[in-house]
Amino acid sequence: MNIVIFGPPGAGKGTQSKFIVKKFNLYQLSTGDLLRDEIKNKTKLGAEISSIINSGELVSDKIVNNLIEKFVSNDIYKNKIIFDGYPRTLTQAENLDDLLKRYNQKIDIVLKLSISLDTVKKRILERQNQENRADDNEEVAIKRYKTYEKSSEPVINYYKQSNLLKVVNGEAGISEISIEISGLINAIKG
Ligand code: AMP
Repeated sequence: MNIVIFGPPGAGKGTQSKFIVKKFNLYQLSTGDLLRDEIKNKTKLGAEISSIINSGELVSDKIVNNLIEKFVSNDIYKNKIIFDGYPRTLTQAENLDDLLKRYNQKIDIVLKLSISLDTVKKRILERQNQENRADDNEEVAIKRYKTYEKSSEPVINYYKQSNLLKVVNGEAGISEISIEISGLINAIKG
């Protein structure tokens, strides 16, 4: 099964992805992590994207679409991917469908974690102390939340139309959210 996990910064996408990976034996594909690796490894792409990420904007569809292709095309990951933070735009969502189709796969469920801007601010400040991410400060967090609100609506509508979307209350505690997500995944596994 392939899963998409979706939500604003600080909604718990990464935390819940790690839980799902363990419980359902999947691979986490976080475009945010892949992009941060490029910056850490001082690649040409890393140099190109660091200021974009640090300003809270999205990098181009072309860049992230290229990054995910090598995972989708790899048999090791076939029908075993949780897409964490991708797709974030309608173009990316359409690209993902096309790409999966090309490799005889599909998305089975889209989990949307919903949280308020106040909670985003609180969580980002907590994470700032733990992970030291360059884009985790209040000002950039607000910008990332606004970017999410603007770009996510067409993606949400896209997945609503295909009946794949499940909305999860991201305000709940970590284990409560995990339990809810497990139930949703088990229900579609049948
Ligand atoms: P994340 O770790 O998912 O919060 O992503 C951190 C940052 O990486 C985002 O604020 C964007 O600048 C960039 N990024 C990650 N995934 C994508 C994506 N699918 N499309 C565009 N930009 C992305």
